[in-house]
Amino acid sequence: DLLVVGSANADLVIGVERRPAAGETVLGGDLAVHPGGKGANQAVAAGRLGARTALLARVGDDGHGRLLLDSLRAAGVDTAGVLVGGAPTGVALITVDPSGDNSIVVSPGANFRLVPADVRAAVPLLHASRVVSAQLEIPLETVVEVVRNLAPGSRFVLNPSPPRPLPAEVLAACDPLIVNEHEARVILGDACASEDPADWARLLLAAGPRSVVVTLGAEGALVCDGSGVRRVPPVTVDAVDTTGAGDAFTAALAWRLGAGDAPAEAAACAARVGAAAVTKRGAQESYPTAAEVGL
Ligand code: ADP
Repeated sequence: DLLVVGSANADLVIGVERRPAAGETVLGGDLAVHPGGKGANQAVAAGRLGARTALLARVGDDGHGRLLLDSLRAAGVDTAGVLVGGAPTGVALITVDPSGDNSIVVSPGANFRLVPADVRAAVPLLHASRVVSAQLEIPLETVVEVVRNLAPGSRFVLNPSPPRPLPAEVLAACDPLIVNEHEARVILGDACASEDPADWARLLLAAGPRSVVVTLGAEGALVCDGSGVRRVPPVTVDAVDTTGAGDAFTAALAWRLGAGDAPAEAAACAARVGAAAVTKRGAQESYPTAAEVGL
């Protein structure tokens, strides 16, 4: 019922005393390899919640690709749409210092080989999905092709991350467009003079989407559609690691919208799932089941 179209990455993380300067070599701790990438994160989050979820993505024919497929399958995600080969699996090389500051190099690898022809070949999968959720760690042309091939009556959800200006055709399909503060500022560009997130939500809505959700970290979220802006109250938790919280929020929102919840109701569920995801380390490892968040 839910199709996620997006990236799958292996996150390679090394703790260091100090991040290296140009030309410098530093010794770090043991390497940790985590399944990640926004598309795979969303699919795993939805699968853990019990949503019937499939992923359209591309990984390499390598160990990182197998790690990702294993994590997806363990969460109950249908991986028939995960294409294999064409380039190495995407990786993020992450060094983290003791203060938590990091330096990251991303190699998109196979993610950038998920091309419009792959979407056309997956039209039966698209048409079997009531909700289709995408992000921007794959080529923009691929996301455009998704929008052009949606089944009538299906719903398109977009988290434009990493943010960039979006074609009108993509904006018009979003229901909702889901942004955090940084993404809202980049997409609004010069139009973003106000410091009030409710203004961003209204300005984004005026740019074409049918609805907009602005996530505000520990402050909760805003839902904006033709009937105005509504605040989704925050869920108070002890935050340990916010990695992947936005992906968990988006997955839960897509799941609840697909199940027929009204937007504010769906966003309140998503806030519970996002809050649960920040109480544990990691991204996919931190995602709750529906029972764990009382849904
Ligand atoms: P992103 O991870 O994309 O930057 P946010 O930081 O806005 O997005 O987080 C997404 C959602 O996760 C928030 O709207 C909120 O529901 C939840 N969340 C994130 N951080 C916290 C926190 N510290 N406490 C409670 N909920 C949080």
